[in-house]
Amino acid sequence: MDSEQLREYGHRMVDFIADYYKTIETFPVLSQVQPGYLHNLLPDSAPEQPETLEQVLDDVKEKILPGVTHWQSPSFFAYYPANSSVAGFLGEMLSAALNIVGFSWVSSPAATELEMIVLDWFAKLLNLPEQFLSRGNGGGVIQGTASEAILVVMIAARDKVLRSLGKKALEKLVVYSSDQTHSSLLKACQIAGIHLENCRMLKTDSSTNYALRPESLQEAVSGDLEAGLIPFFLCGTVGTTSSTAVDPLAELGMIAKSNEMWFHVDAAYAGSACICPEYRQYIDGVETADSFNMNAHKWFLTNFDCSLLWVKDRCALTEALSTNPEFLKNKASQANLVVDYKDWQIPLGRRFRSLKLWMVLRLYGAETLKSYIRNHIKLAKDLEQLVSQDPNFEVVTPRIFSLVCFRIVPVDNDEKTCNNLNRSLLDAVNSSGKLFISHTTLSGKFVLRLAIGAPLTEEKHVMDAWKVIQEEASFLLASQVK
Ligand code: PLP
Repeated sequence: MDSEQLREYGHRMVDFIADYYKTIETFPVLSQVQPGYLHNLLPDSAPEQPETLEQVLDDVKEKILPGVTHWQSPSFFAYYPANSSVAGFLGEMLSAALNIVGFSWVSSPAATELEMIVLDWFAKLLNLPEQFLSRGNGGGVIQGTASEAILVVMIAARDKVLRSLGKKALEKLVVYSSDQTHSSLLKACQIAGIHLENCRMLKTDSSTNYALRPESLQEAVSGDLEAGLIPFFLCGTVGTTSSTAVDPLAELGMIAKSNEMWFHVDAAYAGSACICPEYRQYIDGVETADSFNMNAHKWFLTNFDCSLLWVKDRCALTEALSTNPEFLKNKASQANLVVDYKDWQIPLGRRFRSLKLWMVLRLYGAETLKSYIRNHIKLAKDLEQLVSQDPNFEVVTPRIFSLVCFRIVPVDNDEKTCNNLNRSLLDAVNSSGKLFISHTTLSGKFVLRLAIGAPLTEEKHVMDAWKVIQEEASFLLASQVK
């Protein structure tokens, strides 16, 4: 590492990035390239001799940026957001600079200890129960994604049951969730060896705004017990991916408890909102959970990746995931004086991810972060109002956080035509390059999703987006009449 070269190149790179952010609105939000576009633009093999930073940055401008979908654009409203911020960015930079591999405490004590402290801070912001804090038997850990979080807790829960019932019980283990639960749950089941016919994705509908009904769970659990199966894992969601449905945690948790099931709460997107006292109610009942997860990299100004997982019983994780090879043995671990995060996750190596979250919390402070969330929710509320006032549209499910689910509803049309029309609207809006929204289906309806949460989004971007949607819709409806 040549410090002077780093200084010079680093300044140039920061200038390049700052210019990118300054001009981000000039790019089509959704990349408009065709599959395979890059193949023809880059050489077949790596260069034999070094090239200059200028040459590389020129290629970034000309060849890479056209193929980028701009998640940081203020007009990015698809999926859920993935926030970047100055603080998050600086934390990433520092983490890249130190470039430690913090598998065990001894491999970089600050990485482990800062992670424990920052996760405790965050648990307090969310007002999580004491048992999730590191001073007792629980604690928090940063995973790469919510998918990894759910996988590690499922493995912990599985092994806990198998230790007492024997390995043969695996084929009888049953997992429960609603049909709105993120697909990462099924992936976790596949990896954890849970038979897919034992995964109960319980049906939801508009009568509960797509939240899981405790009666459905109770009925399914009773049926499985009668059939000699073993209910062992329940996943509740606060803010489902399709429509931000909120499962009733307290009631679900009681059922989980009385059947000795592990209860995991996935609040990947909506967890951020719960630092605001007025939204904390949505995780009421979290005290009945065994584990809780939210993605700071979605809506909390922390650059990807940074998924926060808390457990009440850290031994459940370490008993399932610990390894102790000779080459990693050290006094602190042997004496059981420290946390070794390698035993709370799938990989061995891990990045110093707590730095960026620590910087976000310190450089912005909780009050600013709450205002940030509230502003997005207000913008979404205003948009919901506009949609509901337009006779061509309907709001499909009531908005709770910053996602608005809506669709055009032409008069005198069957569901199939209506779905096709909304599909065409989605394509028309996104191929304009002016904004990017995504879709889902709810009860067979093709629904458009507009999620507000990019750090640069202001009222004008939401209003401009709505105007484009209205114009494209009018055009489609008019052409339908002809
Ligand atoms: N859970 C919910 C509710 C989500 O909305 C998402 C992604 O949007 C996930 C889980 C998966 O997140 P990740 O990409 O961090 O695995």
